[in-house]
Amino acid sequence: MPAPVDAIVSLAKRRGFAYPSGEIYGATPSAWDYGPLGVELKENIRRQWWRSMVQQRDDVVGLDSAVILPPDVWAASGHVDEFVDPLTECRACRHRFRTDQIDDGPGPYDPARLALVPCPDCGAKDAWTEPRLYSGLLATRVGTGESGSGAGDGTHYLRPETSQGIFANVSNVMNSARRRPPFGIAQVGKAFRNEIAPGDFVFRTREFEQMEMAFFIEPGSEESWHEYWLQARWDWYVDLGIPVADLRLYEHPQESLAHYSTRTVDIEYRFGLGGDPDGFAELEGVANRGDLDLSRHAKRSGQDLSFFDQEKGERWVPYVIEPAAGLSRSVLAFLLDAYDVDEAPNARGGTDARTVLRLDPRLAPVKVAVLPLSRNAELSPRARELCRQLRERWNVEFDDSGAIGRRYRRQDEIGTPYCVTVDFASLDDGEVTVRERDTMGQERVGLDNVERYLAERLPT
Ligand code: ATP
Repeated sequence: MPAPVDAIVSLAKRRGFAYPSGEIYGATPSAWDYGPLGVELKENIRRQWWRSMVQQRDDVVGLDSAVILPPDVWAASGHVDEFVDPLTECRACRHRFRTDQIDDGPGPYDPARLALVPCPDCGAKDAWTEPRLYSGLLATRVGTGESGSGAGDGTHYLRPETSQGIFANVSNVMNSARRRPPFGIAQVGKAFRNEIAPGDFVFRTREFEQMEMAFFIEPGSEESWHEYWLQARWDWYVDLGIPVADLRLYEHPQESLAHYSTRTVDIEYRFGLGGDPDGFAELEGVANRGDLDLSRHAKRSGQDLSFFDQEKGERWVPYVIEPAAGLSRSVLAFLLDAYDVDEAPNARGGTDARTVLRLDPRLAPVKVAVLPLSRNAELSPRARELCRQLRERWNVEFDDSGAIGRRYRRQDEIGTPYCVTVDFASLDDGEVTVRERDTMGQERVGLDNVERYLAERLPT
């Protein structure tokens, strides 16, 4: 069972995974800044995704497109007109909600049905204002704001998803990287949405990171590719340690599909939000986008984005299957999943509660901690030399302050898989103690052999 989010928020701040953004000016729940350990964890998740989606395949290539794209991209994609939600406000507490957050009945909304729903925040009844449409796009002004740029006044949008940058480049990539369907283009980067109710730590923020891949296929093959990518993405989370019992699939009913999709299946994780420890919520969406995006971009740009299939002698617009994952949201999922409290032996012969992050070693921010038993003129240089050697391969921390037990606890709490202790016996026998995080088991290993020992246990 994943930990409560509050435990993660507190650990994140205390140990430097993430801080409320702009805290010195009064924090908002809509943004978080990643601290020294948070950037490492996020980078490791990103790297694992990139390895499995791009580097270990020969049918997917990478891209890094601009955050601010020509406004035509968002007009063509439908986001300007269709990325809108009906919003209502509680007259009693002034809190705003998308109508679908408070009423899961069929259709966009029904005022009579809405009137019966009490406000989730203050409980007021029959307190809703007439729903108004609002845009999920965040706008900015570019250049001098004179005509000729953007919507005449320089208005541009910060991308609400990374995938439109992929669609706008499909011809470039096909021609330059010599790809033919079935093939994919992957991108990791920031996306921005004017979220009305950000919250739950990094689960929902206005600025966040996505890991998206658009896979271009022949029309008619979408069902099997959709299943293929659902399975591949499910397996990725499980391989990195998320228990199957904390994952589930959610098939979107036809009437609630996003404007671009003909079928979407979400991979949900047991985030335990909203006061329900068993509550599942979306971690990743795997959508069949059909040929909607490419057809719309072809129409608006006047460029032919179809593909000539030489074998069949036919021309067709590729369909797209898109696994769209949240990088920031998966940081939360991996932290919730890894958090554990167990018992560790103390110096008095008893046990103390210890907090341990059981992160997969591939995701752990620090792979190895080198700890001289005490700050000492002979031990410290040996330990520093070992640390320097191991840093050639891994992110290694050196810590020589405080009792050794306390230092082990600090490393357990940030998920460091191995601690290497250089003690006085090391000066005689040339061996060090390697301690494993989960079992707390210890082994003596020769100094010459430490790097190989760790390399065998730390997959890349
Ligand atoms: P939700 O229903 O939670 O708003 P969505 O269905 O709108 O999400 P997609 O458009 O499918 O989300 O985006 C793909 C992924 O991007 C999501 O599965 C999620 O992990 C992530 N994501 C979307 N919006 C946010 C956000 N505001 N903050 C953090 N991550 C987000």
